[in-house]
Amino acid sequence: MKKLIAGNWKMNGSLAANEALLLALGQGLDRASTGIARCDAAVCVPTPYLAQVQALKAVQPGLANLEVGAQDVSAHPAGAYTGEVSAAMLKELGCRYVIVGHSERRQYHFETDALVADKTRAALASGITPIVCIGETLTEREAGRTEEVIKRQLAAVIRAHGHCISEIVLAYEPVWAIGTGKSASPHEAQAVHFVLRAQLKAATDQSARVRILYGGSMNVANAASLLAQPDIDGGLIGGASLKAQDFLTIIAAAKI
Ligand code: PEP
Repeated sequence: MKKLIAGNWKMNGSLAANEALLLALGQGLDRASTGIARCDAAVCVPTPYLAQVQALKAVQPGLANLEVGAQDVSAHPAGAYTGEVSAAMLKELGCRYVIVGHSERRQYHFETDALVADKTRAALASGITPIVCIGETLTEREAGRTEEVIKRQLAAVIRAHGHCISEIVLAYEPVWAIGTGKSASPHEAQAVHFVLRAQLKAATDQSARVRILYGGSMNVANAASLLAQPDIDGGLIGGASLKAQDFLTIIAAAKI
């Protein structure tokens, strides 16, 4: 299966900084050695910058194959939901992906498993691939509850979308590894991905099609060994996606 390397810019950037970053990414992706033809790559940017990224893609040949995504979506199709952005709006802005259920949204915006399932539905209904994030906290891991937590989080999405679960991208992001510089080891990550694959297998005969990304301090030093694991089908990259050379190096590591 072709791997997917998706950058999550989080709430970072400016018109000037984005342009510089995308220019450098475009130049790097133009060179065959980066390996983008052998993996899919995307940047999930703050919603106000979606139009800027599309405009730059239109004039920079190196960015032609770089997909664009958003970082959140409303569960509602339209209406009196001040501040929210619908999946149809994201689709109009050319989004191929949208991150749903990122731990920062679960933690700071109190998003529940049920809401994450609803947002997943909204994305799928508009033809956008949701990158559904799940993962345990440090307290949960230390209490030996990793498997229980990730299975519960995935089960909520499977319950709501069993018939089209193969259309999602899943991202295992241990909360303790996000933005901390402390990645899960390849062995730890693979063990969880194996459990998730088995859970998907029980839900659909299309489980082999579902990409399971690893996210949490993936960087130039650890990307190749994480991406070499049999059930790790790509990465969701935060901090390192803001540095063009780092992101390009991780994309190149995904060719295996
Ligand atoms: C993320 O925000 O999804 C993430 C994985 O961040 P980082 O790579 O910075 O840990």
